[in-house]
Amino acid sequence: MRITGIKTAVIEANFDWTLVRVETDEGVSGLGEAFFAPGLTAMMREFESVLVGEDPFDIDRLYQKMRWASSAGSIAGFAYNAISGIEAALWDLKGRALGVPIWQLLGGKFRDRVRIYADCHAGHTLESLGPLLQRRAPAWLGNGDAAGSRSGYFESLPDESDDFTPKAYAEKARAVADRGFTALKFDLDVPVSGSVAPDAYARNLNPAQLDHLASLVAETCAAVGPHVEVAFDCHWRFTVKDAIRLARAIEGVPVAWLEDPTPPENPTALAKVTHATSTPIGTGENWFAREGFREALSLGALDIVLPDLQKCGGLGEGKRIAELADMHDLSVAPHNISGPIGTMASVHVAAAIPNFHSLEWHAQDVPFFDALLVGAGPLIVNGHVEVPTGPGLGVDLDLDAAARYAKAGEPFFA
Ligand code: MG
Repeated sequence: MRITGIKTAVIEANFDWTLVRVETDEGVSGLGEAFFAPGLTAMMREFESVLVGEDPFDIDRLYQKMRWASSAGSIAGFAYNAISGIEAALWDLKGRALGVPIWQLLGGKFRDRVRIYADCHAGHTLESLGPLLQRRAPAWLGNGDAAGSRSGYFESLPDESDDFTPKAYAEKARAVADRGFTALKFDLDVPVSGSVAPDAYARNLNPAQLDHLASLVAETCAAVGPHVEVAFDCHWRFTVKDAIRLARAIEGVPVAWLEDPTPPENPTALAKVTHATSTPIGTGENWFAREGFREALSLGALDIVLPDLQKCGGLGEGKRIAELADMHDLSVAPHNISGPIGTMASVHVAAAIPNFHSLEWHAQDVPFFDALLVGAGPLIVNGHVEVPTGPGLGVDLDLDAAARYAKAGEPFFA
């Protein structure tokens, strides 16, 4: 069997769900999903020139070949998003050709169902973001002014909003937990009503802001009780001093983890935060390949490892990162902003690693998430996904449904 082509499609959801299909001369194909990036589908199609004629079963070798084709061995960057999607498609292809699930190829499974944690954004706020994190208003969102009022995700938000109050967070947390989820996540890098809007570039917190964030954490966790774990995401917004003050301010609350308090490029800074607090610190969605996790793990810079399997290099690399984490006695909770294809790919890795905590689901407000799969009911039931037993991914993309939400201007597997 030989690879004959690479095709792409993009679903315009809350993010660009970027799909890639690897085709062969025997009619078997595989489907993968990559973390969005500007220019990503053109980059994935460009990889066709190094993959055509190759044996699609040589997944680990083709992963290395794609790495070395990317600027003679890139250690980071959008090339890894492309490689991750293609690598995942190769696993689906191989599983379909051999008639076994991906988890079987990865070494078998540790569990029959995978726990999902529901990302709850910042309370009530639902947005759709383009590939450079600009706000947009796709037709399905039904919110014509979502775009334009605030230009970019990392710019300062308005400082008056009912969305970012402890009451709003607590109500949202209760509502999602009532649907059966035992793990949740909320944004913690939010503005404080009545206070000075945080300076997006200076990244400082004043005492009032610190108090407000600590009360968001305390009241959200109290609202759902001890059987539901809640993580809080800081999106790299804070300096070391403020991240330490925030982490210490919530030490009395048993949060699942505090995510990305400081920027991803400095494991030493993160280690200072982690070593200064008993609050568990998690990170990983902006690190690439197993090598990208090595320094932080050896520094003891994190308490829980959060790789993004649509970005870190793929499913095989995700499993190797999980093995590194296991050597350091750390759990893994994969980051995931994908549609159902990337989510199911991540489910296979989650099933095949011992040290799994929970898998993110970021699409609870996207009304067509389940409609993208052929003949399936809801993928997530009572906060879990049943590990599929069919070949490859174990699910099939509904091409008609996918075409309805395809992004204008992008090829659709053409
Ligand atoms: Mg995050």
